[in-house]
Amino acid sequence: MLLRNAKENGVDDLQLMEGSEAMEMEPELRCLKALLSPSTGIIDSHSLMLSLLADAENLGTTISYNTSVISGHVGSNGLELHVCESKELQNYHVGSHVNAQLVLLPKLVINSAGLSAVLLAKQFHGLDQEFVPTPHYARGCYFTLSQTKSPFSRLIYPLPEDGGIGVHVTLDLNGLVRFGPDVEWISDGGKDHVSCFLNKFDYSVNPNRCSVFYPVVRKYFPNLKDGSLEPGYSGIRPKLSGPGQPPSDFVIQGWDVHGVPGLVNLFGIESPGLTSSLAIAEHIVSKYL
Ligand SMILES: Cc1cc2nc3c(=O)[nH]c(=O)nc-3n(C[C@H](O)[C@H](O)[C@H](O)COP(=O)(O)OP(=O)(O)OC[C@H]3O[C@@H](n4cnc5c(N)ncnc54)[C@H](O)[C@@H]3O)c2cc1C
Repeated sequence: MLLRNAKENGVDDLQLMEGSEAMEMEPELRCLKALLSPSTGIIDSHSLMLSLLADAENLGTTISYNTSVISGHVGSNGLELHVCESKELQNYHVGSHVNAQLVLLPKLVINSAGLSAVLLAKQFHGLDQEFVPTPHYARGCYFTLSQTKSPFSRLIYPLPEDGGIGVHVTLDLNGLVRFGPDVEWISDGGKDHVSCFLNKFDYSVNPNRCSVFYPVVRKYFPNLKDGSLEPGYSGIRPKLSGPGQPPSDFVIQGWDVHGVPGLVNLFGIESPGLTSSLAIAEHIVSKYL
């Protein structure tokens, strides 16, 4: 299924191999079969952001930092955006009212608010809420391998699990090895859109979770030594499917779907949202501009 999925998405260089071939390439690995992806790589995400920022500024983009979209209203010409300075939200508590300091009348709004995108769309008055999905949130923790020499030279992914792509081996450009992310469903993640925008999620990594990681990682890396995992960091996934439900794809939703001119909603852009970001942008440009 993974191979078919890849082909259908234009990835035609995957190679199905026997476990013995894979274990020859990665001696610490244990597996029965493997898919090799020769074109997979890692990038420095901060440098990518800086270069995208430089390109955008060279093309005349103005970026308004520390500014929050708090709601919207569908008028006769499309969506009005209600905006305030983010510092106005400092004393915010769930249910309190926030006044807009500015109303924008944009020709095009791309709601790419990540974790807040769904809850923000719920504040767009006049957008038919039938098109706004139910948000789900899942925390993913990473544990770092304390040994300095990496046991692997490639990223290693086990089969996907419910809610995630599996606790895999991540290598960064400094050679640091991390295992993760696991899946921990968060029931009260999105109290409301402002709390969500203020990122009031719990990002702490409970060191005891390593007891879950050892057996999972040892399925493909049996030489993982006791005591070699240290708490790393965590992230929160903006999901469109909940526990036990089949995985959902990204939702890129324009006026052909919801009928509001000039509004494109991006929902459920979890991993590999960064890898897919330029393709998502190209798709929006070709379909909506
Ligand atoms: C730990 C972790 C590891 C990951 N690893 C990978 C990986 O290896 N490869 C990969 O492809 N993807 C990875 N991802 C996923 C990737 O980071 C996301 O898919 C991607 O960042 C989504 O981009 P986005 O622009 O949609 O949302 P975000 O990156 O979340 O950006 C949303 C932005 O909108 C702003 N915002 C939100 N609400 C408002 C508002 N009301 N007003 C104004 N601004 C607002 C936020 O402050 C934020 O800056 C990872 C994610 C995590 C958490």
